[in-house]
Amino acid sequence: MSPTPISPISPTLPVSPIFPGTVSASGQPATLGVMGGGQLGRMFVHAAQRLGYFTAVLDPDPHSPAGYVSHHFIQTAYDDATGLAQLAAQCDAITTEFENVPAQALTALAATRPVAPGAAAVGIAQDRIAEKAHFVACASASGVSCAPYAVIDSAAAVQAVPDALLPGILKTARLGYDGKGQVRIKTRDELLAAWTELKQVPCVLEQLLPLKAECSVIVARGWAGEVVSFAPQRNVHVDGILAVTHAYEGNMPSSLAKRARAATESIASQIGYVGVLCVEFFVIDDGSEHGALVVNEMAPRPHNSGHYTLDACDASQFDLQVHALAGLPLPAPRQHSPAIMLNLLGDLWFGADGQQHTPNWQAVLALPGAHLHLYGKLHARAGRKMGHLNITGTDVAGVQATARQAATILGLQGLEGH
Ligand code: ATP
Ligand code: MG
Repeated sequence: MSPTPISPISPTLPVSPIFPGTVSASGQPATLGVMGGGQLGRMFVHAAQRLGYFTAVLDPDPHSPAGYVSHHFIQTAYDDATGLAQLAAQCDAITTEFENVPAQALTALAATRPVAPGAAAVGIAQDRIAEKAHFVACASASGVSCAPYAVIDSAAAVQAVPDALLPGILKTARLGYDGKGQVRIKTRDELLAAWTELKQVPCVLEQLLPLKAECSVIVARGWAGEVVSFAPQRNVHVDGILAVTHAYEGNMPSSLAKRARAATESIASQIGYVGVLCVEFFVIDDGSEHGALVVNEMAPRPHNSGHYTLDACDASQFDLQVHALAGLPLPAPRQHSPAIMLNLLGDLWFGADGQQHTPNWQAVLALPGAHLHLYGKLHARAGRKMGHLNITGTDVAGVQATARQAATILGLQGLEGH
């Protein structure tokens, strides 16, 4: 049976582009807003301010990385009606920096302001069940499907799981990130135990796939449906968290890169998406020379794997997010340097003795082509994303050598063997 296609969702169109540096009749400067004050919001704010926009951030955390650098900061819950009304009043258009913003909040904002991405697209990305249904519906046009899976929402569903899905990974349908809310299971008994451990919330069970590699693609789509994208980047995860991104010619077989890029553009277009979208893929070992592509998940926002664009491209993923939101032109970005991104987790701030220390920035910053980005988080914790280091250069071998030096200085994993 062929799946029912999902009808395109058109968010409210902005009547005309919102140009930076303009002042409305009420005397308010052109202002862009973002739901969420994490590092992605912070880098959006930086990109918007560089163009001359004022910015507003809404986040419940008084110490949010984006809140520190924004013109306006509204410290309320994401569903606080007063906070949302204030954000709408301050902004000409609003985006989001993470997928778990309540979709109703985006709907409420969209009643009076252009909001991109729209609530419906974010709603799909925040629920693995809806997301997988979207990938299946898109598969014939995108040319890529997702891992075989089953929805686990009852004990009967556990019993009905086909043997072919075992061993597998049980993932909560909502609120998972950085490998959280995931349990690897081998047998049906383990599946039942794992689902109980996850408090029997709705989940998906995915077949455990033989991964050769992972990659992701970032696209930006404008209000009129125009699409631009970056070449796929190859990603290495350590303990379920992105550790390294390789972004250069030859980072993966070109046939796969082409397919991943086309599939991502198709996934964005079929949902009527506006804004920056990242789609993650697995390259699985199917016995063929290069392996086969499988779509993993999508993020309705810029993505950690796209941070290299800040230093290696003539427009970053955050610049494109600003352009798409404000209805500005979306010229195709050009990568001018090969790049490797190293994620900097809070673990780096702790020595073998468990004592906190400052990583050796003196040595790292002496490396040619090293671009350090710290997010202004005051407290380091294991697994917490504190910043990233982009290494750029004129040639791939040089970038790889410098990245290895940086990894050795900082004691980072993830570069070896890839
Ligand atoms: P994030 O949002 O940080 O990207 P997440 O918590 O949403 O991560 P996934 O992307 O679903 O989680 O999975 C995290 C990692 O676990 C993947 O990047 C991959 O390395 C591994 N993984 C996930 N699903 C599978 C699978 N079906 N087979 C093999 N490995 C998998
Ligand atoms: Mg992921």
